[in-house]
This record gives sequence, structure tokens and C-alpha cells, in this order.
Amino acid sequence: MSALRRSFSVDLSCEPLSCLAGVGPRVAAKLEARGLLTLQDLWLHLPLRYEDRTTLVPIRALKPGLSAQVEGRVEAVERGFRYRPVLRVAVGDASGSTLVLRFFHFRAAQVAQLAVGTRLRCYGTPRPGQHGLEIVHPSYRVLGDHEDAGLGEALDPVYPAVEGIGPVSLRKLIGQALDRLPEAPALELLPASFLGGLGLPSLRQALLTMHRPPRDADVAALAAGTHPAQQRLAMEELLAHHLSLRRQRIALQQHHAPSLKGRDGLVKALRQSLPFQLTGAQARVFEQIRKDLAKASPMLRLVQGDVGSGKTVVAALAAMLAVERGKQVALAAPTELLAEQHLFNLRGWLEPLGVRIGWLAGKVTGKARAAVLADVASGQAQVVVGTHALMQQNVVFHDLALAIIDEQHRFGVHQRLALRDKGAAGRSVPHQLVMTATPIPRTLAMAAYSDLDVSAIDELPPGRTPVQTIVISAERRPELVERIRVACAQGRQAYWVCTLIDESDEVVATAAQNTFDALSAQLPELKVGLVHGRMKAAEKQAAMRGFKAGEIDLLVATTVIEVGVDVPNASLMLIENAERLGLAQLHQLRGRVGRGAAASSCVLMYQSPLSSMARERLETMRQTNDGFLIAEKDLELRGPGELLGTRQTGLAAFRVADLARDAGLLPDIHALGERLLQESPELADRIVARWIGGAVRYASA
Ligand code: ADP
Ligand code: MG
Repeated sequence: MSALRRSFSVDLSCEPLSCLAGVGPRVAAKLEARGLLTLQDLWLHLPLRYEDRTTLVPIRALKPGLSAQVEGRVEAVERGFRYRPVLRVAVGDASGSTLVLRFFHFRAAQVAQLAVGTRLRCYGTPRPGQHGLEIVHPSYRVLGDHEDAGLGEALDPVYPAVEGIGPVSLRKLIGQALDRLPEAPALELLPASFLGGLGLPSLRQALLTMHRPPRDADVAALAAGTHPAQQRLAMEELLAHHLSLRRQRIALQQHHAPSLKGRDGLVKALRQSLPFQLTGAQARVFEQIRKDLAKASPMLRLVQGDVGSGKTVVAALAAMLAVERGKQVALAAPTELLAEQHLFNLRGWLEPLGVRIGWLAGKVTGKARAAVLADVASGQAQVVVGTHALMQQNVVFHDLALAIIDEQHRFGVHQRLALRDKGAAGRSVPHQLVMTATPIPRTLAMAAYSDLDVSAIDELPPGRTPVQTIVISAERRPELVERIRVACAQGRQAYWVCTLIDESDEVVATAAQNTFDALSAQLPELKVGLVHGRMKAAEKQAAMRGFKAGEIDLLVATTVIEVGVDVPNASLMLIENAERLGLAQLHQLRGRVGRGAAASSCVLMYQSPLSSMARERLETMRQTNDGFLIAEKDLELRGPGELLGTRQTGLAAFRVADLARDAGLLPDIHALGERLLQESPELADRIVARWIGGAVRYASA
């Protein structure tokens, strides 16, 4: 009996929505367009928020910003025209106060309906208006003079909209789907002991609470997402994502990769030729990589290291392990500026050792491109440095054993995969080393990178003095110009960063050009340079080279210099409109100074007035140079979706879970995940299918 019921219920969850009353082909197509195909999809289409129609609030007791239901009679109606037609309806109740309802879209019938004296019940969010509180476009209902309308029994769920299906119909459909929700034992995929241990309800109970919260539900907890019902769902959702990433990881490990074990003459030679000793952290991370590369299954390792921690040289050492075995290495960077800098560094380090380096960027065209492609295909080019261009289809390697991707968060998952697929023919795939300077809080990294091994270079090379950060109003710009004059007179170099967020390249370029003109005029004794995204590659290069060589004193730049630019003698950075940038970006930019021995400073200029968020960001920057602390703060201020970007991980697409809020669940989830993968993989499959479904959310790792 129970076996029968179980299989029946599984079928039920996958039942197409056409089984519901009112779902014909047309409605089904609209639901499908929103990814809603089965009963289960509707069960998991969770409310965005709730409206409380279980009580009536006296108008006198309304609070701005707090949604409420009120009942009263129309006292006055006014039709006006200010830029557009507007209808204002004053409603009064027994509390003796009046509330204004304001409509911008209305029909004549509506106006007729809202005559003075009409009894109305309405729901909405009051805001301060010209004459006391008002609600714009409330939902409302006209009541008969003696009608007893009753009150809601439960909080009303408000669902994410489905195009072409009105909210009322959608609620009815979800209601029907819920009526078919199987009994708990048939629906449940998680072990009861596990849930019990965490004090979390069954899936059935959690879904019912979310869709039909009882009158006395803890509304504050529901709004905050901390209600046990939400935690229960978030838990299963995070588990599903974790399992999906882990399975991809396991699948990747079934592939073969060239074992790069053995002689390390080139590694030794490179280490000896470097003008510095590796830091402890660099040496440790390199050893981890060396161990990975010795295996015959592909490495997939993320190296996290704060700006300036010296990731490049670790990548170069890893490359030597491959070159030593006669294999090829690809190193991809997200911008041409950064790729070029890698090219410059690698040439300096590797060419003296006899290693041949190829260069491939979008700007390499014609004969030059054909020549590089030929070298890559023949294996002549042992290390190939470039941009996205490396990932294009016509780039064929002779024997690619290691793909290195710098600042991987700037690339999409697909691009990383494109490079991986350039492995030697057959089942062999290259090892992958991805590097990022965007520190991610540990908790977040656990969830985002379940498919990667993570190493941290958590130590800066010695002799760096921490950057001092100053926050200053833009009104004090003249003082800052003097400051540059003094610093450059002492042989130091400076960056002036122009930022305009959400503007086109062109607008930003013009702003940078104007700043460049102004500063050139104010500082005639200095050599001022300019780089922005609109310049020709050759011009950009010339400016960067000039700055690196010390021929340019002051470099006016847009945020193109954000990643990777390395000019140790630059010790002063001024950032205009710093209040517009996020913490991660400010931290990256600031990382361009403090790379040499000289004491460095970073001046964050802001335009008043500052929003409280902006003030908090700037204050955080002033207080700390620690990328991990900054990342934690960033997570707190912005939430993980923005922090990681959907492009990279799809993490923003969670239905219930919120990594910032639910990170505490992760250790338990990971433990359970490992257990399931070992003990009941088919259960793991069902959990993944339930939450992630057939949708290709992550390409395989
Ligand atoms: P990032 O981790 O930000 O990519 P880079 O690899 O660009 O950092 O290194 C920053 C600078 O530090 C470079 O000039 C590099 O040559 C230098 N560097 C790297 N490792 C060390 C070290 N162990 N000691 C001294 N300088 C180092
Ligand atoms: Mg770097």
C-alpha cells in the first residue's frame, strides 16, 4: 500500500498543469513560459510577500509605509489634471481621519462608482501626501450599505506575476495545486531524523504555511525570511544546488587529464631567477597546485588572493610544470589591458628560460593572427596569453594541458568551458586554474564553489605599507591637485580615476577627456596621460607603457584600470565620485596603489549629500584594507546576488534561499549532501530535479 502510494505521489508532483480546472492550452502555454509545467512547479511558486486583510485598521492609526486594510465612506472626489489626469478620492472613517486615494489610470465607470457616500474597503501602502496620508492605486472594493463583508481568515499571499494570468486566477490555480499536495511521507525527500534534529517542519507543512499562512503566523519572521517554513525550503533548495554542483564535479573527475608529474627544472629555474622569494602563502598554494597537476584527473582549483598578493607568479610556476612535459598552457584575462600586462610579465620571466609565448587578442588580426594560430596549433607557442579571443572556436591547440583564467568572475561559465574543451583530442581535458582577486566570504564560497577546490593566498609580499585611505568632499579638489603636485615632485606617480556608473562608454570617455584637459592645464609641469575604453588599443598601450616606465607622472583613467594594472611606483590614487562605486570595485581600484615600498594613499572624493549606504561603504574603505572584511561588509550591504553576479553562478536565481541570511545552514547541508551522494544517489537526483529541474542552470563543470 505505501509503496503504491509513494509512486502515485511522485507521478502527481510531475502531473502536467492541464490536470487543473481552467488550464487549457492557452493558459498552459503562459504558465510554461514562466517555467511552470507541473503541479510541483506551482507548489514551489512561492509568495513574494503577504497582505494582511484579517483586520481593519482605523485611518487614524495608519503608518506611512505600512500596508493596511481600511474601510470608510467617500467624502469627496476630485478629478484633476496635473501633467496627466488624476482622480483623488477622500475616504473617512469612524476614527475621524481622512485618507486620500489617488488614481492615475481610471475609467469613467470607476469615477461613477466612487460617488460621495459610497462605502469602500481598500488595501494599500499609505505614504505622506499633500493633505495627510495617501495611497496610490489601492486595491479596493465597493461595499453595499449594509453588507457584512467579513474579514480574511489568513494572510493573503502575493505571488510573482505570470504574464497573461491575473493575480486572482493565479491564486486559484495554486490553490487547486495545493489541494492535491500529497501527505507528508509521500512528498518528503529528506530524512526525518535530519529535519527533526534541526527543528524544521516537513515539506508539506512548510509549503502549506508559506502559501496559506495562518492568521497568527509570525509576520515579521515571514517578511525577514527566517520563519521555520522558509528555512525548511531554503535548506532543501541549497541542498539541491550543492548536490548539483557536487555531481558535476564528480562527473568531471571521471575524465582523464595529463599527469604533469616529475622533473621540475623549469620551476626551479624560474624561482631562482625571480627578484624575490615566494611568500609562505604563494609557496603553499603552488604546492597544492603541483599535487593536483600530478594526478591523471583534471584539477579544478580556484586561487583566491587579495589584490597584490602575487597570483601571477604562482600561475607562471604552474605553467612551467606543463611546459616541462612538452604541453601547452593558455592564460586568459578579461581585458586587453590586463592580458597585455600578463604578456609583459611572462615574457620577462619566461623568455630568458627559453619558453616561447604566443599572444592572441581581438586586436591581433590578419597575418599576425594567422601566424599565432599556426603556432598554437603546431605547439610552437608553449604558453598562449590572451583575452576572450583564446576561447574562439578557430583557436586549436596542439596539446593543451592547463587552462588558467585570471579574474574569473569577469568571464561567464561558458567561456571557461570553451577553454576547457580545447583539450587534446579524446577524453582528456586540461587542468583548470582559475584566479580571482574578488574575495568572497567563506560561507558564500562554500555555496558558490562546491564544484571547485579553493586555495587562498592570504598573505601579501613583504615590505608593502598599507594604503592609507582618506575620504574627502569633492569641494576640496583644489587641495588634491596640490597634493598631486607635491607627490610627483618627489618622484612618485599618481592615478586620477574618473567614474561614471551607468553611463555609456562614450560619456565616460568624454568625462575622462575633460578631466585630463583640466588637470593638464592645472599641472603644466607634469606629464599627464589618459586611458579610457574608447581609445585605440595602441594609444592605450602607449599610455600604460609610458606610465609603467615612469615617463608619465599622472594617469587619468576610467575604471578600465580596475583589474590587474601593476605599477609599483604609483603611490597616490584619487577616485572621483567614489560614492557611486561598490565596495568590491573600490577595493580593486585601491589595489593599484600600495604595490611598492613607498607609503601610499587613496583619496575617495564624494559629492554631497551622501546616502547612508554610500557613507557606510566609504567608511568601510577608510577603516580596512582587508579584502575579506570588505567582502563580508559588501555581502551585508548588497546581498549575494549582486556580489557574485548571476552570470557567474546563477546564485541570484534562488527561489527561497538567501545566502547572506541562510549561510548558517550550509555546514549541515554539506554534511547531508555527502551522505546522500554516498548512500542514496537516486534520492539526491530527485532533490536536484525538484528544485533545479531539467533547466540547464550550470553547464557541467
Ligand atoms: P595579483 O595577485 O593582484 O594578481 P600580481 O601577481 O600582479 O598580484 O603581483 C603584484 C606585484 O607583486 C607584482 O609586481 C609582482 O611581481 C609582485 N610580487 C609577487 N610575489 C611577490 C613576492 N613574493 N615578493 C615580492 N613581490 C612579489
Ligand atoms: Mg592579477
